[in-house]
This record gives sequence, structure tokens and C-alpha cells, in this order.
Amino acid sequence: MAVNSKIAVEKDQPGQPHRGKVFVAIHAHLDDVPYFAGGLCAKLMKEGYTGYIVRTGNDEKYGGHTIAENILNNEQQHLKMAQVLGFKDVFDLYYRSHRMNEISPVEIRGRLIFILRMLKADTVISFDPSSSAENDGDHAATARTVEDACAMCGSPSDFAEHLEAGFPAHPVRERYYFHARPEQRFNRVVDIGPHLEKKIDAIVECKSQGGGALGSELRARLAYEASHDATHVSPNGRPGGGLAAGGHAGRYRENRTDEDHADRRGDFSQGSAHRRRIRQRQ
Ligand SMILES: [Zn+2]
Repeated sequence: MAVNSKIAVEKDQPGQPHRGKVFVAIHAHLDDVPYFAGGLCAKLMKEGYTGYIVRTGNDEKYGGHTIAENILNNEQQHLKMAQVLGFKDVFDLYYRSHRMNEISPVEIRGRLIFILRMLKADTVISFDPSSSAENDGDHAATARTVEDACAMCGSPSDFAEHLEAGFPAHPVRERYYFHARPEQRFNRVVDIGPHLEKKIDAIVECKSQGGGALGSELRARLAYEASHDATHVSPNGRPGGGLAAGGHAGRYRENRTDEDHADRRGDFSQGSAHRRRIRQRQ
């Protein structure tokens, strides 16, 4: 599948041109989507998409408490973070963090294909599976299985029992891949200026990943940089992160690689078994 080499700049679109379409953001850890694509997700939902988020890992190593406490804290913060960005529902697969490369890719693939078919996903947002620069095993394992799931989701021959259960094969038409590491390629820059505050609000909820102050520190730094006309900032010394900046918040952007799929309007209807946790916990 060819990837566009020309860099496109994606800005806010007026109205809700994506109304009726569904995207699924798939990450490994609580803070991946907030850092790598939080502005993009907020933008797409404002433009009419219904968004869902899948976390493949359980974040048991993050938070500085016992493994059990870390799992619970990250689970609760994941729900809050998803609410802040506007996701309709959350799916947690709970694979053990730092051990995802030992799990059968076919098992994860089958679970993801089921979710994508159930939600009738038009668009998927996740890690770049082609990148040798990705040094996180959980990211790499998730990227590989997301790629396979998207490729096979539309095939009635794969996991045919889903069709028997009432979830037909459904092709994923469009993918956005995170620009998560400095060496990774990208061919699309998304202007997230209008959504920057929401992105920071989502980072603020990731209290188990970074001590709980990174979001507010970033907000303070942006205010300082804007008032002092800086030319560049990389948030929090974190490698990659998809953020670069001029002196003003409106020039912030997220970089990512997309694949050139045809854009087709989705036929969304919600799976009956999954109207659940976000609303239950409000
Ligand atoms: Zn991560």
C-alpha cells in the first residue's frame, strides 16, 4: 500500500463533515493517545465523528504503587481522560504492560477485529507499524496487530464466526499513524490549535504517568512561550510526542503518517452490549 510522500496540512473543517462516521483510536498505555493524537481525536469528534478508544495494556508498571493499585488507578484515569476528549466508550484489553510481545498476535488481532466490526469503524488511529524507530515493545506489538486487524477486518473469511454472530465484515477505509518518535516519517500535519486546551486537559488526567503535573506544566510553559515569542518547544523532554510549536498556541500541530484510503461514509449503529462504562461512571 503506497504512502503519500507529500506532506499535507489538515486544518479544522467547518460544520460536521464527518457526521455518521466512526473512528477507533487504539493505544497501549493511558498516555499514548493524549500525547500523540489527543488534538486530532478532539478535532475529528468536533467535526462529527463518533470516537471510541481501545487500550491494549493494563499499565501495571506505571504509577509508583503496587501492581494492583497501578492497574486500578490507570483504569480509572483512562476513563476520565476519555471523557475529557469526548470519546463515546472505552475498551480495555488489559494485557500486561512490558510483556505484550509474548502474547499471540492472532489473539489480539481477533479481539480488535471484533471491536472494529461491532463499531463499524471507518477510521483507525494508532502507532506506525512500519517504524524501526519504535523502541517500546507494547507499542510495537499493538502496531503490528492493529495493522493486521485493519487489513483483515473486511474479509469475511477471517474470523467467520463473527459474521454468524451478526457482526459482518467491515473494511477500515482510513488510518492515521502516530508520529511518536523523532525518526519516524510523516506525511500529514494536523493543526490542533483550536483543540490544544482539550489535549492538555487530557494529559492532566494521566496522573499515573508523569506525576500528574505534566499537563499543567505544559500549559504554563505554553503561556510563557507565547508571551516570550519562542520558536520551538518539546514538551517535558519526552522523546517524540508529535508536538512542535511556534510562539503561539494556535501554531501547535500533531504530525503523523496516514495512508491514502478512499474516504467513505460509515453506516454506524452501536453494538448492543457496549453502552457501558463511561456513562455508568459519570
Ligand atoms: Zn506508551
